[in-house]
Amino acid sequence: MYKRKPREKRDLEAEKKEAIAAWSPKTKLGKEVKDGKIKEIDEILENNKKILETEIVDSLINVQSDLLSIGQSKGKFGGGKRRAWRQTQRKIKEGNVPTFSTLAVIGDCKGHVGVGSGKAKETLPARDKAIKKAKLNIFKIKRTCAGFDCACSELHTVPFKVTGKSGSVKVTLIPASQGTGLVVANELKKILKFAGIKDAYSRTQGRKRTTFNLIKACVDALKKTNIKKGVTKNE
Ligand SMILES: [Zn+2]
Repeated sequence: MYKRKPREKRDLEAEKKEAIAAWSPKTKLGKEVKDGKIKEIDEILENNKKILETEIVDSLINVQSDLLSIGQSKGKFGGGKRRAWRQTQRKIKEGNVPTFSTLAVIGDCKGHVGVGSGKAKETLPARDKAIKKAKLNIFKIKRTCAGFDCACSELHTVPFKVTGKSGSVKVTLIPASQGTGLVVANELKKILKFAGIKDAYSRTQGRKRTTFNLIKACVDALKKTNIKKGVTKNE
């Protein structure tokens, strides 16, 4: 059955295609992608090559983006509600200058994900910076079926238990069978979804109120899916 795409989505895709067509790469890697010498993002990520142009990511895969809730609104009624923006004030002679910071996540829901932060005097430039950084930070994760208690053959969960750390926060991601869903802290759901993890349990330790560390610990855990179980890396 043929489904018409909503208008807005078609426009965005056309815009993206135009931007890539107009792109003149500044790096060797960018030129190789533009010339069609590199056709898979994994060729880049598996060789640990540094991506310095977001067009490299956009040319090779289709990513979605979203903002993570790192801020906390103040006030009588909205107090404690998480927001995408963290606002800080800088005092100068002329008065207070607000700065907005945010965290963005990008991913193709097929094993490629990235998180980045952005800071600016206004929200939209901060968002754009964060999305750009998230694309440059893209990494590959390993996914599998949960194994003995799951009979499907899809890549829907983490391959084994992985623990990531940031500051005092530890996040452990645990494989789950199909249909379990994401039994994880709310802030981590978007990251796992964009990474292509549909089922997982998680355990968190430490000061979870510092969302920033929670997210970084989750990213660290996801990166560890690439390390073979039982093999300790010497660093
Ligand atoms: Zn399965």
